[in-house]
Amino acid sequence: MRTSIATVSVSGTLTEKLAAIAAAGFDGVEIFENDLLACPLPPQDVRRRAADLGLSIDLYQPMRDFEAMPAPDLRRAEHKFRLMERLGADTLLVCSNVSPAAIDDDELAAAQLRLLAERAAGHGIRIAYEALAWGRHVHDYLHAWRIVRLADHPNLGTCLDSFHILSRGDDPIGIEAIPGDKIFFLQLADAPRLAMDVLRWSRHYRCFPGQGGFDLAGLVRHALNAGYAGPLSLEVFNDHFRQADAGRTARDGMRSLIGLDQALRGAEHPAVPTGLAFAELAGGAPVGGMLAALGFARSGSHPTKPVELWEQGAARLLLNATGTGPEMIAIGLDSPDPARAVEHAESLLAPVLPRERAPGEAPLDAVAAPDGTEIFFCGTAWRGDFGPAATVPGEITHIDHVALTQPWHHFDEAALFYRSVLGLRPQESVELPDPYGLLRSRAMATAPARDEHGAVRMVLNVAQVGSADPPWQHVALACDDVLAIARRLRADHPELLLPIPGNYYDDLEARHDVDPALRELGVLYDRDGHGEFLHLYTVTLGRVFFEVVQRIGGYRGYGAVNTPVRLAVQHAGSQ
Ligand code: MG
Ligand code: MG
Repeated sequence: MRTSIATVSVSGTLTEKLAAIAAAGFDGVEIFENDLLACPLPPQDVRRRAADLGLSIDLYQPMRDFEAMPAPDLRRAEHKFRLMERLGADTLLVCSNVSPAAIDDDELAAAQLRLLAERAAGHGIRIAYEALAWGRHVHDYLHAWRIVRLADHPNLGTCLDSFHILSRGDDPIGIEAIPGDKIFFLQLADAPRLAMDVLRWSRHYRCFPGQGGFDLAGLVRHALNAGYAGPLSLEVFNDHFRQADAGRTARDGMRSLIGLDQALRGAEHPAVPTGLAFAELAGGAPVGGMLAALGFARSGSHPTKPVELWEQGAARLLLNATGTGPEMIAIGLDSPDPARAVEHAESLLAPVLPRERAPGEAPLDAVAAPDGTEIFFCGTAWRGDFGPAATVPGEITHIDHVALTQPWHHFDEAALFYRSVLGLRPQESVELPDPYGLLRSRAMATAPARDEHGAVRMVLNVAQVGSADPPWQHVALACDDVLAIARRLRADHPELLLPIPGNYYDDLEARHDVDPALRELGVLYDRDGHGEFLHLYTVTLGRVFFEVVQRIGGYRGYGAVNTPVRLAVQHAGSQ
């Protein structure tokens, strides 16, 4: 797989972009014209800079509004050809005409593109013609291909762009009918499924393969079946990427292509965790009282580190006395093969964490997630570090999910990380009202295995607007009788329960026939087509709070409908 990326996909000046792209390991680059026009270096120096960095210049783009015009602008074309010779780029992208002056005439378009290809041939340059989803008369890829075929010139081929094809809902199977050597270039972008104008969607919301809702592997497979042998090139216009660190974005893009390559090879994900082994909280000492109130017991401590193990049922929490928290700093995952899981994570450019261990302690295989959370791949040995096994009976059975917070401009990066490194399947993002902004939230889970919800569930949250502080993290604990736990907390530790407003219950009782005890105990409720969900929240300690959840039947969600009420109460409590 040869890899390439358009310079428009990352932030910075052209020279900064080239350095970041090379450092991430790409083979080549598409030079976006605006980046070159704003660059103080002449084209031959850009060429030298790219070569020194080991990057080929695979494409120069775009040339707009050329074909099917009353008179084609060959003067501008000749200028670009001369520039490309100095730049060392041999393929020019021509995107379908959006001008009101364009004429709806395929034969005219073909004749003018043929003329352009003829001129290009004199400079050793090829023309790749791409259908823009919003082109005036040519907006689907098969139409662009028909015009290329009609023009019939060896220096004219087509450029396929996954966004333009999939955003329109076109079936990519038709790619297989195009001869591979006439597909001059393949540009890849994913996107979240949004109901909006396609031009705005493309210019602001494209993302890397695996971050959105399109089937990129399926599309690329069709191109490979057609015989396409050129690079897989990322072309992403994204408001967040424009502002983010170029090196980080380029690395994230490379991770997306590695993940895509693994998906194309059909290899089974080697590292899907089978359960949540533990969540670790730093500055955890104040959390002990809360856990005791929830029925946990301290069942062990680490021989060489200031870390306590608290257990109840199969729920395990590590309280690390260091740090300024309380905040969640690590997650332990039950892994069938921890060493292989780390190897896989490393292949996806995840930083492997150095672990200092004392002789006799269990090996720790861990990587850092983009938000800094440490992800441990655990075999069975780790529990032994905390002393003899203990059984702590109680109402809590296991950890249902953990909710982590992401910096707003790294949300897509985090989603791709957890998807590719852990094999979690993302659900669609939801946006939830917060009194001071919007909370964007995306749940991810392993495929249903041990139970119908999947063994590992995580929720990624990001405060989009308004909130100066990052949103809170939480650990959700599963139980079979949340009302019993609520009753006990209400009696013994009422100060630990998050109070829920009466207005919430007035509305809830109008919508559903629910137990009046919910109101009295501050328990929230949701239902979906599969079952019911009862849950309560504790107050927040540092950045962390706990949720106790009871899933009845096959409820699949996370109670997101109740999140705005929780956020409002939490904000009120933190002022
Ligand atoms: Mg494109
Ligand atoms: Mg939750």
